[in-house]
Amino acid sequence: MLITVLKKYKITPQKSLGQNFLNNPEAVNKLIAFIDPSDKDVFIEIGSGLGTLTFPLARKVKKVFAFETDSRLIKVSEELKQDLKNIEFINQDILGLDLEEFIAGHLQPGEKARVAGNLPYYISTLILFQLLKIKSYVKDITVMLQKELAMRIVANPNTRDYGSLTVFFQVFTDIKIGFEVRRDSFYPEPEVDSIIIKIIPLSKPRIDLSDYDLFLKLVKTSFAHRRKTLKNNLKNLDEIKKDPQLIHSLFSSSGIDPGARAEALSIFEFKKLYDALMEIR
Ligand code: SAM
Repeated sequence: MLITVLKKYKITPQKSLGQNFLNNPEAVNKLIAFIDPSDKDVFIEIGSGLGTLTFPLARKVKKVFAFETDSRLIKVSEELKQDLKNIEFINQDILGLDLEEFIAGHLQPGEKARVAGNLPYYISTLILFQLLKIKSYVKDITVMLQKELAMRIVANPNTRDYGSLTVFFQVFTDIKIGFEVRRDSFYPEPEVDSIIIKIIPLSKPRIDLSDYDLFLKLVKTSFAHRRKTLKNNLKNLDEIKKDPQLIHSLFSSSGIDPGARAEALSIFEFKKLYDALMEIR
């Protein structure tokens, strides 16, 4: 069916846009069941492609805002949507959109959006960070990700996969792992397998942070060079560069070992470093 549509409309999938279309009805059904949609839900779909997920989802929910950057695919989807009046296709690069403004303008006050998507792999991490920023307006986010990326999100400390992404997701969200989707479920076949996960923003983060951006910077700088110690990485924080002596206070007041590596720190230990940084800056 998918390949017939691509041929009929003379569409060659664009690798540079991460166009690996889901081509396995069983996987689509499982994905819809895992999303667990209801008729009150308003969905934002990221990268709707040829509507493989959009159409079955729209049959079960109030509204789907389907974002797709490739206008060729929007044109075809508009033709294929038949009687489905609750889909709005939006020809827009999701990274160029102010999602907070979009939600404020399109949802009822207090109403939370649900997000779904088989994400374009080349920008999955950027999209996830963008979604984390609007977490208070979002009920949940069900996404298909490259398996390696999903493993990084759910990693444990002291493993190779544990990194800044893991820390941010652990602070702000719960993660439910859905199921694996093998590479031969897509056309064209990607070089990696995929996993579907559901990200559920917590109403209250696991640690209190008044300056989210500072925490983000602290964690990213801690992991900048994974083989370096925390002390050597954190020397590069602007706050420390201004007064290099402060690095000693950072570790003494947090109680964190300056010789440790970032991958050994739990989110609660990062919070201790963050509190110390707030004090000294
Ligand atoms: N949902 C479809 C499916 O499951 O078959 C398509 C998934 S495909 C992995 C990712 C889709 O995201 C492609 O259709 C691609 O054109 C679109 N895309 C790529 N970059 C985008 C961006 N910056 N903003 C919105 N959509 C984008």
